Amino acid sequence: MNAIKATGLRRSYGDTEVLKGVDLTVARGTVFSLLGANGAGKTTTVKILSTLIRADGGSASVAGHDVAADPDAVRAAIGVTGQFSAVDNLMTGRENLKLMADLHHLGKADGRRRAEQLLEQFDLLDAADRSASTYSGGMRRRLDLAMTLVGSPQVIFLDEPTTGLDPRSRRAMWQIVRELVASGVTIFLTTQYLEEADELADRIAVLDQGRVVAEGTADELKRRIPGGHVLLQFTDPRHLESAQRLVGDASRDGLALRVPSDGSVGALKALLDRLDDNAVPVDSLSMHTPDLDDVFLALTGNPDKVAQR
Ligand code: ATP
Repeated sequence: MNAIKATGLRRSYGDTEVLKGVDLTVARGTVFSLLGANGAGKTTTVKILSTLIRADGGSASVAGHDVAADPDAVRAAIGVTGQFSAVDNLMTGRENLKLMADLHHLGKADGRRRAEQLLEQFDLLDAADRSASTYSGGMRRRLDLAMTLVGSPQVIFLDEPTTGLDPRSRRAMWQIVRELVASGVTIFLTTQYLEEADELADRIAVLDQGRVVAEGTADELKRRIPGGHVLLQFTDPRHLESAQRLVGDASRDGLALRVPSDGSVGALKALLDRLDDNAVPVDSLSMHTPDLDDVFLALTGNPDKVAQR
């Protein structure tokens, strides 16, 4: 069962077509990450899926409800935490959560129970009675997400959840996201940190100039682009030349030889055996496998590349 299904989403602002037919499928209980450069249309997509704005064309359903025909049902099933937090600085953490419980008509006892449970789950009990204005960035993000969870949403839109957080707070947030997904929630994540998508996302879509230009698991996307290589370092230029003759398809970079490789152990062993059999000594080696940064740079912002696919 899909948590989100979008087909041919289109949206223009004035004469500018921002989304040019976006298709997305997100399975229930998974993390789906939408990547794209600034202005690619990520926020516009999230706004359509969370019923904040309407699409000009195409259709979408979230948690089984059509966003255009039944926006209230969609809103009841989703949570949205954005770059602009819903936290009220004048209130304490506990008061913020209780206010959300009131807004969701949870009732006094249920509301109190839910607030306490979330304070504990998000490691905010010690700070629960301090005004939110005294919270660190990481605590504020945790409170913001906790507030989203008061309504027990099935689908959560997380817009750049760790921007500006230190590495420890970022990891704490990742752990929270993993626990949410393990409990069956679906996460739609937009992020500037490709490492974050790599860590968390089951599937990733790359949005470029209003279209999805690639979609798959992080590994599938990495395999789509060239760039993996072994870097062999030499101190003696004669050894470098011998190695280059042996390997053939390699480029020189000073006293280093860059040999294209799929990064597999078998390929590395074959390369080293060949050098060894021919008594060519190598001083050191390093492996480079493409990361999501390489994927992103290869796939976005270059109209020629997009046109080739
Ligand atoms: P970022 O990473 O910078 O948040 P994004 O991928 O989320 O970017 P969007 O915010 O969806 O991109 O914007 C896509 C394009 O639509 C941009 O060129 C933006 O200027 C334009 N745009 C967004 N909202 C409006 C609006 N209300 N009126 C006019 N143009 C808009």
